[in-house]
Amino acid sequence: MKRGQTLVASLIVIVIILIAAAVIYGGFAGAKPTPKADGRGKTVLGNARASAQDEVCRSNIAQVRALLETAKAGDDEFKPKTVAEIPGAAAVSTCPVGHEPYTIDEEGKVHCPHLGHEKF
Ligand SMILES: [Zn+2]
Repeated sequence: MKRGQTLVASLIVIVIILIAAAVIYGGFAGAKPTPKADGRGKTVLGNARASAQDEVCRSNIAQVRALLETAKAGDDEFKPKTVAEIPGAAAVSTCPVGHEPYTIDEEGKVHCPHLGHEKF
């Protein structure tokens, strides 16, 4: 019964592939996390992409803060009201998730206005 064994083996492989696809793309129906903004919590891939974008935002803010410090070091009176006024910061001046421009508060600290990025 070699033919029957091959058929069973093929079916098992197909079932394993379908289970893997369900886990990666959809999650199990009973174990779905609550969907949140930005595709977060919908799928494993959605969560991975959202985490990657969060990291890009953190990196952008770190660069803007470094550029701001550099500009302040060269000019003690330099107090920009927007990130666009910081030399060299144009390319990293917005959140990669919501594309909102970063803000500078009264204390001169750079923040992301995107929901969930307040502590970056
Ligand atoms: Zn952000």
